[in-house]
Amino acid sequence: MTAEPAHLASPWQAIDHAHLWHPYTSLPAAVAPLPVVGAEGCELILADGRRLIDAMASWWSAIHGYNQPALNDAAQAQLARMSHVMFGGLTHPAAAGLAERLLRIVPAGLESIFLADSGSVAVEVAIKAAMQYWQAAGQPQRRRLLAFRHGYHGDTCWAMSVSDPANGMHRLYADMLPQQRFAPAPQCPPDAPFEPAALEPVAALIEQEADELAGVIIEPLVQGAGGMRFYHPAFLAGLRRLCDAHGLLLICDEIATGFGRTGTLFACEQAGITPDILCLGKALTGGYLTLAATLTTRAVSARLNGGEAGVLMHGPTFMANPLACTIASASIDLLLAGDWQARVRRLETGLRAGLAPAAALPSVREVRVFGAIGVIEMQAPVDMARATAIATAAGVWLRPFGRLIYTMPPYPLTPVQTERVCEAMCAIASGTGG
Ligand SMILES: *Cc1c(COP(=O)(O)O)cnc(C)c1O
Repeated sequence: MTAEPAHLASPWQAIDHAHLWHPYTSLPAAVAPLPVVGAEGCELILADGRRLIDAMASWWSAIHGYNQPALNDAAQAQLARMSHVMFGGLTHPAAAGLAERLLRIVPAGLESIFLADSGSVAVEVAIKAAMQYWQAAGQPQRRRLLAFRHGYHGDTCWAMSVSDPANGMHRLYADMLPQQRFAPAPQCPPDAPFEPAALEPVAALIEQEADELAGVIIEPLVQGAGGMRFYHPAFLAGLRRLCDAHGLLLICDEIATGFGRTGTLFACEQAGITPDILCLGKALTGGYLTLAATLTTRAVSARLNGGEAGVLMHGPTFMANPLACTIASASIDLLLAGDWQARVRRLETGLRAGLAPAAALPSVREVRVFGAIGVIEMQAPVDMARATAIATAAGVWLRPFGRLIYTMPPYPLTPVQTERVCEAMCAIASGTGG
């Protein structure tokens, strides 16, 4: 490592340092971000020519890796037609083409689609739809949501209000947000027999609050940014039954799990359920552009039509952006044309083998793997600067948070690359390397 701060290495990095906020950082950032000038396959290319294996898939979105010819071609073809037109009063084949593909792959029954511009917005739209649903049903007092501790649903207001109230920074706004109800995080690992008692706390809360509740929001099988925790599909199936018994809407946030990450196209499939409202994002465009979707059943969309507004009250400027829709369609086609199940299985096997040594370290609380997700949970918070130095020295890009060192890599990661990612994660966990 050179003594010179990395952010002064070039004029554009000086501009970044002085003027640009990065996610959840001070300005200027305490740790200089790495300069990336290109990305190809499963690697990021740094300004000095170094290549890092991307174990994060750009926050879980770049499932195919980077610079995919099929997605590049689709983007260029759409650019030549039009990059964007408003969706108010106008429509285009790009949106319809994406809708057609989503309808073929999402759980049966989700037929009404809102194309939003980011995951958090998709969650806002889902919650607005749930609120309008109960207004239209003549039960406007049903306006609270039941959410789960260790959940994460985004950074906008309603999304923050249903994310874990204690971890993360959302508690900064605690008394400004809508007050929701929280159930304990599911305690039922997917690889152990399911104990129905795991559902008791949430069942009791629903029983108690049913008259005030609009619905329940949950991340299916994987609680992502709120703790990288996995739970049994039977829990989700049980939650669906509880919602049905009390007439509550079930909102499933598959923004992190959608498009194959857990071994099925959507995590809901493993529980054999259809939610009333489904949120998609992140991998929807294969990591190329920001786009998200909120899907509802006909029962929900029809009820909204009959409400006071008679419409779903949301409409972002870049709704159904044609460029993003076209790339999303190409990404879905590319996913379905390839052997993604085998790739996810191969990653799961590789991660299990490669991370196993970490389980024996005294600094490690737990190692867990589910689909193409590998996690080392430490006893104590990870020193991010030190972890980044160890990982980059090993040629790997990792971004631990809290006590969690984890990977959600692109699906084409080779076994050799997977081993290198695991070695870097284990090196961080043991405090060696760098
Ligand atoms: C990332 C994420 C979001 C927020 O999506 P953004 O595109 O970052 O707004 C919401 N829910 C889940 C489960 C996520 O993983």
